[in-house]
Amino acid sequence: MPLCASGVPHENVLYIAGIILPDRRIGIAAVAPQCLTGPGFYRTDADAHVSVLKALRTYRLQLVGQVHCHPWRYVSHSELDDEEAIVRAAGHWSLVVPHYGTRGMLPLHRCGVHCYTGGQFRRLTRPAIASRVMIVPTLMDLRGGGE
Ligand SMILES: [Zn+2]
Repeated sequence: MPLCASGVPHENVLYIAGIILPDRRIGIAAVAPQCLTGPGFYRTDADAHVSVLKALRTYRLQLVGQVHCHPWRYVSHSELDDEEAIVRAAGHWSLVVPHYGTRGMLPLHRCGVHCYTGGQFRRLTRPAIASRVMIVPTLMDLRGGGE
């Protein structure tokens, strides 16, 4: 799902729906909320959040994280990012993608990968990202080549 559907790069947000287990969170689907967007900002409101929660309930999923983009390479959480996060609770993930997402999200260490811990979003180091975040392919074809 493109982060910026309008074709003009700008800030935007997606939520990650999935499953929360005691020892891990598994993201399954991206949810694009109703959102006011523009260069350097995005805004969601309570109605948008309610719609997201209804969509999650339909599929019996939970909100495991969120993704938003920034201009340039800056991927730290701003004060506004902290305040506007849909969830501020232990274990909630927040990924910040540089360059308005126009260059993709990989390798993941180019993004700001934050986890809400100890009452605030903390940015993970590159080794922490490598040990705590795994991207599972949507299809694993193990049939091998040939015949
Ligand atoms: Zn931000």
